[in-house]
Amino acid sequence: MPEDTSRHELRVDRSLCEGHALCVDLAPDVFVLGDDEVAAADTTPPESRWGQVKAAVDACPRQAITFSTLHTKGR
Ligand code: SF4
Repeated sequence: MPEDTSRHELRVDRSLCEGHALCVDLAPDVFVLGDDEVAAADTTPPESRWGQVKAAVDACPRQAITFSTLHTKGR
C-alpha cells in the first residue's frame, strides 16, 4: 500500500526580500541575514520551530517567505 508522506519546505524569495530581518528576529535558529542583506533559511526547519516560522511568514513585509507542505506518495 503506498504510503503518503508530507514534508514542509521553507523558502525565501531572494528577489522580494529587502533585508528587514524581522524573520531573523522571530526565528533566529531558522533565518540568517547574508552579507548581501538578503535572508536565507533552513529549508526544512524542525517542527519545534514551525510556530516561529509561521510568525515570520506573517510578519514579512514583502511576503517573501513561503512555508509549504509537499505531499509525496511512497511505494
Ligand atoms: S522579513 Fe522578509 S523581507 Fe525581511 S529579511 Fe526576512 S524575508 Fe527578507
